Amino acid sequence: MASLLLYNIGSLATPRSENASRLSGLAMGNIHTEQNAAIFIENGVITRIGASSELEKEANVAERFDAKGMAALPGFVDSHTHTVFGGNRANEFAMRSSGKTYQEIAAAGGGILSTMNATRKASHEELFHIGKKRLDAMLRHGTTTVEIKSGYGLDTASELKILEVIQELARTHPMTIIPTFLGAHAFPPEYKNDREAYIELVCKEMLPAVKERNLATFCDIFCEENYFSPEQSERVLNTARELGFKLKLHADQLSDSGASALGVRLGAVSVDHLECTTASGAQVIAASETIATALPGASLFLNHPYPPVRALIDAGATVALATDFNPGSSVTFSMPMMMTLAATQMRMTPEEALTASTLNGASALSLAHERGSIEVGKRADVLLADVSHFYEISYHFAMNHIAHVIKDGKVVV
Ligand SMILES: [Zn+2]
Repeated sequence: MASLLLYNIGSLATPRSENASRLSGLAMGNIHTEQNAAIFIENGVITRIGASSELEKEANVAERFDAKGMAALPGFVDSHTHTVFGGNRANEFAMRSSGKTYQEIAAAGGGILSTMNATRKASHEELFHIGKKRLDAMLRHGTTTVEIKSGYGLDTASELKILEVIQELARTHPMTIIPTFLGAHAFPPEYKNDREAYIELVCKEMLPAVKERNLATFCDIFCEENYFSPEQSERVLNTARELGFKLKLHADQLSDSGASALGVRLGAVSVDHLECTTASGAQVIAASETIATALPGASLFLNHPYPPVRALIDAGATVALATDFNPGSSVTFSMPMMMTLAATQMRMTPEEALTASTLNGASALSLAHERGSIEVGKRADVLLADVSHFYEISYHFAMNHIAHVIKDGKVVV
């Protein structure tokens, strides 16, 4: 039997789910900590957690790994990214710094459509190599599970190409990868004057083709002024749901368009962004099963307001944190940076931020039954950080404290 003993852990910190699929409201602060601990892993699953001095006596161990007093925490679950795309938009970064807005840049031919052009041109092999390089960097920063969306193809062949790249990455990379179809990310130029025809294409051609090839778990949509209206979003999401996809929405990012309320009504697993969600909107989310995913990297990068996370948590919502890694509005792989922004900009406690980055992220991908916390029975996705307490990971910001990553019971970093 493949077994691994992680011993001599200085301080272990994890949300404790006790088989619950999430922690909501103030319970998000329930972090279990343990000093001088060890974790015993068999066939990729955590089978024992206890005092290092006790577990070190275990004779029947294939491999031993000395944590040298480092802190252990669950692998991060980044539940919202756009990792597979061609090119970059560093030129727009410069434009924005001289005062142009996201909408002005999009109107000048930049934004999602410039990435669409680069992605359409790229071959499967090119996208795979770019994607792999990005995932390797994410893993080094402690992300062990990631969601990746399509959405830079915006025609059937290119959307399928991106999802096939994601599928190959999922097959070959140690990280757990959950694919999402985001064909309704923007209207491509071919359909600029016939938006209805693009909705038809998404519903009648793309979604069935994705389903037939089993290329995505979730269907997402950019529900926003100048993108997809709530009515159009509802049509696409209803079609997706009937085909068996789980639902997510880019909601309330640039305006309060009613997107988060729509997501709640349709039973979406998560509504993501929420920068413009109002106090009453927060109450609606909190009263539902839908997870509120905050993406503070986009607020930082675009200089937009932050989502009302404190109000959401105080009202009882389940909040997750994710990077939204994408070339236009959040160019980072760092979940610890999101935890820093959570604490400094959104008044989350470091405990709540850890739960939001691990267990609740797993819940936003319907994976919390097997990932997202260090508990007996769960898959062994564990980080060793060169700090004495997990607070330091987000307190000492913009640097990578992750020294080792254990993924499914194997030391991969
Ligand atoms: Zn996004």
